[in-house]
Amino acid sequence: MQAHPLKDKTALVTGSTSGIGLGIARSLAAAGANIVFNGFGDLNEISALRAAVEQEFGVTTAYHGADMGKPEQITAMMVEASKQFGGIDILVNNAGIQHVANIEDFPVDKWDAIIAINLSSAFHTTRLALPGMKAKNWGRIINLASVHGLVASAQKSAYVAAKHGLVGFTKSTALETAQTGITCNAICPGWVLTPLVQKQVDARAEKDGVSNEVAKKLLLAEKQPSGEFVTPEQLGALAVFFCSDAANQIRGVAWNMDGGWVAQ
Ligand code: NAD
Repeated sequence: MQAHPLKDKTALVTGSTSGIGLGIARSLAAAGANIVFNGFGDLNEISALRAAVEQEFGVTTAYHGADMGKPEQITAMMVEASKQFGGIDILVNNAGIQHVANIEDFPVDKWDAIIAINLSSAFHTTRLALPGMKAKNWGRIINLASVHGLVASAQKSAYVAAKHGLVGFTKSTALETAQTGITCNAICPGWVLTPLVQKQVDARAEKDGVSNEVAKKLLLAEKQPSGEFVTPEQLGALAVFFCSDAANQIRGVAWNMDGGWVAQ
């Protein structure tokens, strides 16, 4: 196996300043890919994170702070990234947010933001990345959906709708690119302990009057039979596999990595 199979490829990972996106960006960089980071956060911390990845893996990185809820900012990021690296070879649509509430109480602005960031942003990045990928007849599009792209949970209507939509969009993209060297697949994680999930752990700890550790166990016990969190590193390894030649004919799948969640 090549030590750096993704050398000379460029990966844009949306929402890569934290959590799963950062884990995937690091795994792709370890495989040799240059990385365009995106996401919110303290600019000094983001610079430090980029410097660490460049030093550890010997790749080039860039950062664009586009708000993935804003199509014109997404366009600016894609144009800038293409200019700097001569195109995007690997597109990881990962940025996402969550809000938990019953449908009748669900704030309309939160619904709109979740659909825009978790679903529509993938349409915008994909439509802008495809011409360059088609010109090279090579590309990888990886959409971070969720087990909630396959099954539902109560109080997560917007998230479940967006993630089911993203799985559907993945299949359409895979069909439109089926006779090219471009593949498109979705990854569907179960619980991963990131800032997005820590908020839900905190809410559970407060509601049940239990410690953080007990709240984590309660959340896992409800849905994830392994009783263990999936890790960003494990998801990163799956993303690297999707980028390999062995995955050339994996097209349009929604691959769950979920400790058994959807096997139930
Ligand atoms: P996280 O909160 O740790 O990270 C989210 C990232 O997205 C951050 O870099 C943040 O800055 C960025 N982001 C948020 N809003 C943005 C916007 N408007 N524009 C640009 N960037 C924005 O979350 P995470 O848990 O790492 O989630 C990453 C993806 O994985 C999401 O799509 C999420 O739905 C999905 N997912 C997470 C879990 C889990 O258990 N954590 C499970 C299944 C799927």
